[in-house]
Amino acid sequence: MRLFPGNRVVPPPLVHRALEGIFVSVIGAAAAVGAAAPSVRVDQVRVIEHSLFARLHGRAIATTRRRRIYLRGSAVEFFENPSLMLHEYCHVLLQWETGSLTTLRYLRECLRRGYWNNRFEVQAREFACRHESRLRELLRELVAAGPGFKMGG
Ligand SMILES: [Zn+2]
Repeated sequence: MRLFPGNRVVPPPLVHRALEGIFVSVIGAAAAVGAAAPSVRVDQVRVIEHSLFARLHGRAIATTRRRRIYLRGSAVEFFENPSLMLHEYCHVLLQWETGSLTTLRYLRECLRRGYWNNRFEVQAREFACRHESRLRELLRELVAAGPGFKMGG
């Protein structure tokens, strides 16, 4: 998507670690019961801030594609928002990467049920809700673990 300007940003190490803590256990648990489990890692997901591509998607604050999160605003804001990160990484790691989400299916769901009730959005919202307190806890633990990890950036 180099046609669309935007800056690629790497998550701060602390945020990356905390997200991995969540997704490694979720993906591991899915694999253990034989569900579709992506092999992709958190660091293989590209985050693009101030993205024109995201701005083309109406008022959405972010939009995703396979291994990509496009942000309308800044990455700093994104990485300070555990709920939003879980939501968008859920779309990428648990939906795009498993093949359950495709552009066509997403559009079909939106036509049938609208944005709010489409199953991909329902799953991402539920996922964020279920894991937000754990992600906050992991972030606090890593901050407390001291030097070497810094928020921001
Ligand atoms: Zn969403």
